[in-house]
Amino acid sequence: MKLDVNALRYLTKDDFRVLTAVEMGMRNHEIVPAELVDRIAGLKHGGTYKVLRNLLKNKLVHHDATKYDGYRLTYLGYDFLAIKTLVNRGVFASVGRQIGVGKESDIFEVATEDGTVLAMKLHRLGRTSFRAVKSKRDYLRHRRSFNWLYLSRLAALKEFAFMKALGDHGFPVPTAVDCNRHCVIMSLVQGYPLVQVKELQNPDDVFDTILGLIVRLAEHGLIHCDFNEFNIMIDDDEKITVIDFPQMVSVSHRNAQMFFDRDIECIYKFFNKRFNLKSENNEEQEGSDSDDEGNSRPSFLSVKKAAGSLDKELAASGFTRKEQVDMEKYVEEDAEGQHSSSDDDDDDEEEEVGDAVPIDSLKIDQDRSGELDCNLASRNSGEPGTFSEEHG
Ligand code: ADP
Ligand code: MG
Repeated sequence: MKLDVNALRYLTKDDFRVLTAVEMGMRNHEIVPAELVDRIAGLKHGGTYKVLRNLLKNKLVHHDATKYDGYRLTYLGYDFLAIKTLVNRGVFASVGRQIGVGKESDIFEVATEDGTVLAMKLHRLGRTSFRAVKSKRDYLRHRRSFNWLYLSRLAALKEFAFMKALGDHGFPVPTAVDCNRHCVIMSLVQGYPLVQVKELQNPDDVFDTILGLIVRLAEHGLIHCDFNEFNIMIDDDEKITVIDFPQMVSVSHRNAQMFFDRDIECIYKFFNKRFNLKSENNEEQEGSDSDDEGNSRPSFLSVKKAAGSLDKELAASGFTRKEQVDMEKYVEEDAEGQHSSSDDDDDDEEEEVGDAVPIDSLKIDQDRSGELDCNLASRNSGEPGTFSEEHG
């Protein structure tokens, strides 16, 4: 999805107030009736209704009258809330070009006041599965309680927590800068995804480094679960950076061994195919998980024996057990949903919003957009919790 942040410059305090009210209403409504938005926003003289029309025009909310009349946030609306909060916090000042499109994320460059360029990852869980959902009603019923707002926010929260912890433990990951709602700000990795690299000076070294990382992660109690050429960045000096952490699990996960072996297998396969790396290991790889001494593949069981407790530290660090379970359920159901979906190309959920604007072409106008009502602006989590109590 493209992100046109131009409109952000022209949005007023009231616009953001109403947008936030829609977000809050979505805590327990799929579609939020206008009266409820109005009650939460508390604008005078029916101001809410006029603002809603403006938000609709800017594709920040979507009007839905299928079940009952109301509004819901669009991805863009949620993006704006997160961007606005982070800009107000001084984390960055402008949004630049899109540098990545993941399966369930969009990645942009952003720049700080002093010109440092960072990466902004906007999580979009539910984007791909939404199509699957449509072709499989059971699936929808099954996970109705998880809306994309909640899941995308969880993914960001988890990614941020893991990136930070891994960085603190010396793993080569981007520096975790900040996080709000579904948005993670991190350092920009110089380099390219390994999948784009056709040739390496030292494929053996790179291969060993990468395998070593999988093992060291597991020794810290963690499995990446999506450790492949798309999530490994490599620079001109062949230095590795690992990205993309929302799906990580603990070595005590019931499928840990399978995930671990799958990560290892991906790397073997890729290096074998792309760099023709025929280590002794490759010959005996099919189906074998031998843990003989010497040249065999890293074995999960021996690694697990030495496992540290980073997984437990993380579990204690604000990413709750329930959230972890919800994420895992989603990841599993999503995989199922995708496998069972027909190729339904309906783009309902993807709001086309024009081109991303180049860095520097946008300075978010602090005066016009103003400080959000402090009650709103200070709300870090994107959890539409207490505001409605104050105002509802
Ligand atoms: P997804 O979870 O959707 O797969 P990723 O985190 O893997 O998203 O990011 C998708 C792409 O965006 C990556 O393959 C990479 O090209 C780019 N990217 C992500 N994070 C960064 C970063 N910190 N610096 C530079 N590029 C990045
Ligand atoms: Mg990825």
